[in-house]
Amino acid sequence: MNNQKTSIRRKSEPSTNISRRCFLGQTMRFCCNAGLTAMVFGQLGTGMAFGINHDDDPKSDAVNNKLFDEDFVPGYVPLQESGELAERAEALWEIMRNCRLCPRECGANRHRRQTGFCRSPGTRLFISSATPHFGEERPLVGRGGSGTIFLTHCSLQCVFCQNYEISHLGRGHERSVREMASMMLQLQRAGCHNINFVTPTHYSAFILKALEIASQRGLRLPVVYNTCGWERLEILAMLDGVVDIYLPDFKFWDSSISATLTAGTDDYPDLTKKAILEMHRQVGVAKPNRHGVMEHGLMIRHLVMPNEKGGSIEILDWIAENLPKDTYVNIMAQYNPYHKAFDFPEISRRITIQEYRDVVSHAEGLGLTNLDIQGHGWLRR
Ligand code: SF4
Repeated sequence: MNNQKTSIRRKSEPSTNISRRCFLGQTMRFCCNAGLTAMVFGQLGTGMAFGINHDDDPKSDAVNNKLFDEDFVPGYVPLQESGELAERAEALWEIMRNCRLCPRECGANRHRRQTGFCRSPGTRLFISSATPHFGEERPLVGRGGSGTIFLTHCSLQCVFCQNYEISHLGRGHERSVREMASMMLQLQRAGCHNINFVTPTHYSAFILKALEIASQRGLRLPVVYNTCGWERLEILAMLDGVVDIYLPDFKFWDSSISATLTAGTDDYPDLTKKAILEMHRQVGVAKPNRHGVMEHGLMIRHLVMPNEKGGSIEILDWIAENLPKDTYVNIMAQYNPYHKAFDFPEISRRITIQEYRDVVSHAEGLGLTNLDIQGHGWLRR
């Protein structure tokens, strides 16, 4: 395996312009990959694949999903009934006065409409889409899809972000907390098996407030916290019992590489290790129920990068040493040089079959037994 991961250089000349045709092709692929059918079919003006029904009848929000175990109750329900969910939502809301919701801890006073490093605007909520998504992990997709809510902005800012129009440019529409609660209920009615918040960290206060409303109105789907992994332990403690399924990335092993390929985030490896251990403590190993649908647990994603820039071998070694051998690990083969990746020659291509094979072989050799090998088609070649 090519061992060139300890440094990465930036291309000195400006990135090559792409043609209009290439741009449109990439945009269409991006939309399809991200499940943004609303965007593809010109419904971005509504911001949603579903319309927002402000006149929801709470009694009509009965769970129509038959694939959960009979005794399954999402963690946020008892917290809402006891009043603790509302208290935690308020506590997170207060943190936004001197914002420390993410490890950037930039201190923006979002209550005074200050925009932080992540560019999320004050106490306003922007959502790109809410739609059943069939491209997530199989136990999240089931038959009805994962009820994915794409939130705008991000504080990590990876240079190769495949969702950069949403995460970097903030493409989305302003919604209220009450409207987000309605979206969750509509996703439940559509038969989705979970509510999957994509890039939730800087909106965690809004999410808990919306869950409080949605739970009162009959939401009973597990909550998926779909994060880059770079989280503060203090915030994770406030999510304990609220989140049913943690879905963190573990992107980089080397701090100098994480600093170069994000917005200077050299503490990514260290904080992500601590965050993943805490997530595991809260929700344990992820195992699908007897219907093949995930109800709770930790599901780690690792994206294999060209030239071993992610540090796949070390990350898998760490998982095998620090977590149970049946920890769910999705070894992702989908790396594409999106956004500014062409400014960095070593990550300006897709991965090779051999690079992917080497990582999967290493994981199997470590005795990891709960692997999601998305590039399995390659391995047969
Ligand atoms: S969530 Fe945004 S505003 Fe808050 S600390 Fe992080 S970067 Fe700053």
